[in-house]
Amino acid sequence: MATSELTYEPLRVRLEQEHAALYSELKQEMLLNTLLPSSAAIEGAELSDLIVMAKSSFIPNLFDLATRLEKVDAAICSIKLGMYGLCADCEDEIDIEDLETDPAQPRCQHCREHSRYHHEA
Ligand SMILES: [Zn+2]
Repeated sequence: MATSELTYEPLRVRLEQEHAALYSELKQEMLLNTLLPSSAAIEGAELSDLIVMAKSSFIPNLFDLATRLEKVDAAICSIKLGMYGLCADCEDEIDIEDLETDPAQPRCQHCREHSRYHHEA
């Protein structure tokens, strides 16, 4: 396990940085769009509540921000659970190249292609 923790360490740092950036951008956008009455209300809200609110706002920018933040947050959670780098569908290891392209990638290449095929059908 020590080896994979070292391998994933730079990815964890990237995820934490992206998470912080997305979170502050999301809060700012929600305030600009007056989804919540005050910055105090936004600061006091749970991240999961902000994500639900932003996604149900149907404001494209906010929707995209919230979707990405949710994905990054899930990846950070999986690091804490020791499940990072494992496909959410088949639990195979995700290629390190895929994780370097997108550290929040939750699925292996096989499952991504499979689900893309399904969504297009
Ligand atoms: Zn998979």
